[in-house]
Amino acid sequence: MKKMLIITAPSGAGKTTIVRHLLKTFDNLSFSVSATTRPPRAGEVDGKDYYFLTLRKFNNRIKKDLFAEWEEVYPGKFYGTLKKEIAKKWRKKKDIVFDIEVKGATNLKKLYGDRALAVFIKPPSLEELIKRLEKRDTESKKTLAERIARAKEELTYENNFDMVLINDDLAVALKEAEALVRAFLDLEEE
Ligand code: 5GP
Repeated sequence: MKKMLIITAPSGAGKTTIVRHLLKTFDNLSFSVSATTRPPRAGEVDGKDYYFLTLRKFNNRIKKDLFAEWEEVYPGKFYGTLKKEIAKKWRKKKDIVFDIEVKGATNLKKLYGDRALAVFIKPPSLEELIKRLEKRDTESKKTLAERIARAKEELTYENNFDMVLINDDLAVALKEAEALVRAFLDLEEE
């Protein structure tokens, strides 16, 4: 039976780096492409990074109950996992990896139970998290303030998940992530 690996964290804790590393390391893992109403950033490709939808189309999919989970992550910016995306990957015999925020991750874990492993990536401290958010040059002043406020709240979700992985030294965190994925997917040491 194919499984799902849910990687979640406060904004800026390094979950995207960890997800990318896992995708490179494990052939059988496939990235769950989410739908979103936020505009694409430079270099992002529709259908690969996200399915970029208008608010109208996104709402339409909510009404038709096509999402496994969705959240308004920032005011007016919606993100969600389409049920079809999960079905498609499992049909292709792939295990799925998710890069999603804490509320969506909590809901997916509830829906899929033992078929899912939900890992919370934790920054070493709130100060370090704020520093990492400030370093990102994709964020304007306003969204940075929004992200810090959100990250503080997200840190309180830690107990909802199967495992907590502290991302202090990235190299160590990547190795730990590999080990727990290998165990969860029942893979031999390569
Ligand atoms: P970004 O705009 O930086 O790509 O993503 C913003 C936040 O939304 C990140 O924490 C990301 O993990 C989260 N996110 C991406 N896709 C989904 C999704 O399908 N559902 C939920 N709940 N969050 C998502």
